[in-house]
Amino acid sequence: MIGKEILGYRIDEEIGSGGFGTVYKVSKTNASGTYVRALKHITLPTKKQYASVLNSMGGDCSKADDYFTGVLNDIVSEIRILSMLSESGIRNIVKYYENDIIETKSPKMYDIYILMEYLTPFPDYFESHTFTVRDVIGLGKDILAALISCHDKNIIHRDIKDDNIFVSQDGVYKLGDFGVSKALKDKSRAESVKGTPNFIAPEVYLGKEKYDSTVDIYSLGIVLYKLLNKSRNPFLPAFPSPYTTDDEDIAFEARMSGKLPEPPISAQNQLGEAILKAIAPRSGRYDSASEFLTALEKAEESLTEDELGEIVNVITPINAVPQRTDASADGYSNHFDETVAGEVLSDSDETLVAPLDRHLFDTIASPAVMTATASEKRSESAHFEAPPKPAVEEPIASSGYRANSYGDTVDSSEPPRVAAVTKKDLSWLIYLSPVIIAIIYIALYVFILPRCAFNTTIGLIEWLFTNPDEIIDAITDASTVLTPIYVIIGLKILGWLLVGGFITSLFFVGHTLQNKRPKTSLDAKLIGREAYVMAMDLHEQLRLITDTDAKAAERAMYSVCERLKNESEFGTGSSAVINCENEIAAYLKAIEGNILGLYDSTTLVQANKNIEILCQRILGKLKTRIELKKK
Ligand code: ATP
Repeated sequence: MIGKEILGYRIDEEIGSGGFGTVYKVSKTNASGTYVRALKHITLPTKKQYASVLNSMGGDCSKADDYFTGVLNDIVSEIRILSMLSESGIRNIVKYYENDIIETKSPKMYDIYILMEYLTPFPDYFESHTFTVRDVIGLGKDILAALISCHDKNIIHRDIKDDNIFVSQDGVYKLGDFGVSKALKDKSRAESVKGTPNFIAPEVYLGKEKYDSTVDIYSLGIVLYKLLNKSRNPFLPAFPSPYTTDDEDIAFEARMSGKLPEPPISAQNQLGEAILKAIAPRSGRYDSASEFLTALEKAEESLTEDELGEIVNVITPINAVPQRTDASADGYSNHFDETVAGEVLSDSDETLVAPLDRHLFDTIASPAVMTATASEKRSESAHFEAPPKPAVEEPIASSGYRANSYGDTVDSSEPPRVAAVTKKDLSWLIYLSPVIIAIIYIALYVFILPRCAFNTTIGLIEWLFTNPDEIIDAITDASTVLTPIYVIIGLKILGWLLVGGFITSLFFVGHTLQNKRPKTSLDAKLIGREAYVMAMDLHEQLRLITDTDAKAAERAMYSVCERLKNESEFGTGSSAVINCENEIAAYLKAIEGNILGLYDSTTLVQANKNIEILCQRILGKLKTRIELKKK
């Protein structure tokens, strides 16, 4: 792409990629000067996306085409919203200039280009600038101004987060990425679940009630809270105490339950109160962005110069290495419970500790926890529609273990192992054998061949001295003397070449074998960002499992299993990855057992709780797996 000309601009460099597209820095120069812009390029669908969707649609091309036409419509609607807001000249919204959509017929593909104002993403800005309480308020006020305009036009952004905030050269904060925004017709209320879990309002996440534009106020409240709370989400242990994935889950649950947290560390005052009101349950929240703006302004007035000047983004020592509270052989816990419906499952035995105390910004911009970005959420909503329950196949079975039935009792001290992947790890043999062979070769050449050479030379000298008459003949026929030495040197070179070649080839073979997918493995894509899309989609599916509707739960359960089988690269990678996958499989089996409990009113509540905990654990494992895969 670099060097290409699109919409009259030359592509200079890649800025970054999101769930769906890539953003480039582009420029054009003419007599009036040089213009720098950002160009978003979306290819729809990519080969991978198409294969994946086709697979989930049971190979039905027309369904897959329909699906991508739907995604295109979403993108077009995003462009329309951007265009409409831009035309209104709102300075706190990323300016949009123009677009181009190029369609190819066979295969049906779209290249979508969106030309926008070139800005500094807020996370980058925050990383490189000292940020004070006054700046946090400034950001809040600017984004609220953007929200007031959006809400006036009945547009809900639905994905307010720091990643979607930008800063212009003159220090104006701007709201961008309207990928999941929604234009509400007739001021009706939105229903679908969109957003990023770390910032999402409970009513959106729980999907229990229709929601309104105050969900944007809520998400902005979380952004401000985190900025004033050393990058920690509400309900997490206060900085600098370490926290675990369990703590994240507990914090998330507390937030979703509608509880109000303590005010953020750097705003134990009127400002903190103003922010808490933004993240209160709907009934206690501001009714409009302008109310929140007024509250922020009042809070600003109430603060002293010292309070306003307090720096919020102090750099802390980096310790990105995950710590674990247990240490099994491969560094990962193989501990999992299988639960039955009605059995009380403890939600406190997840052992993975999240990477802690990174540079403060890391936790804001790229949370270690699973955070779906706008387009990830966008993609998951339709991309991974739940296929119908498979007719015959076991969910993830491979070890012959059957999910425990409702009413079974399980000895939790000896948890049954469920293998998602029956892969034997023989990599040590493959990698070690060339080393052994190399040692033998070295021994041969260093100890045995020189001795042969020595003996040959001694023999030759003795022969020369015992047959002096033949010395002249021997010298003239140099080959008689030199041949053995040449042979030895030649052999040595050849031998080393052989050893080198052999070792290299064995390493290649080893590598291939190591990554070869065994027959029993599950097959999908969990690489890079796709992993996040996949995990977030699973989260959506898993959320369905926790529904009290047993039938829906069962369908969702099978859907997740199918997804894992058909769309993941389960079954490849190191033993730590395989272990992780086996644990996921085990948790899925345990969920299966609990689903039966949903049919019985006496065990329904406990089964539901168990399933929820198991889902959280699966998510934890998916996160671990993604990290392991990256290594
Ligand atoms: P998603 O869209 O999936 O939520 P994302 O926001 O990271 O994820 P994009 O919107 O495609 O993905 O953006 C990719 C990168 O380009 C991000 O780092 C983003 O900060 C940057 N970016 C987006 N728009 C602009 C812009 N107008 N100016 C400068 N950088 C931008």
